Amino acid sequence: MKCDLCGKQPPKWRFNPRRPFLEFTLYGTVLVITDHDRPWDVCDGCKPCMQKGQLHLILQRAVRGMVDGRMLTKPELRAQRAKAKNFFRELLKAGLMPPVPLEPDDD
Ligand SMILES: [Zn+2]
Repeated sequence: MKCDLCGKQPPKWRFNPRRPFLEFTLYGTVLVITDHDRPWDVCDGCKPCMQKGQLHLILQRAVRGMVDGRMLTKPELRAQRAKAKNFFRELLKAGLMPPVPLEPDDD
């Protein structure tokens, strides 16, 4: 089990969204609508920015986690960041419940 945000540390906290939200992604000419209602399990390091809704810090951690070990060109990196920004903005708009601690062996 890895943190849903940075993908590095084991998650210690669960954030449930207050309500599900829709993500609209355009793949070429195909619009894909994804319904998100899953909880977010994050590590100690990622907990504060999720709790405070600091989009900038959330993005920094998420994008670093996404591109880790992958060779991306600058435009690809920008595209990933834009997609993540759109996603996390919607997540924060939907709102998160206060974090609940995860049991150590909970998966
Ligand atoms: Zn993390």
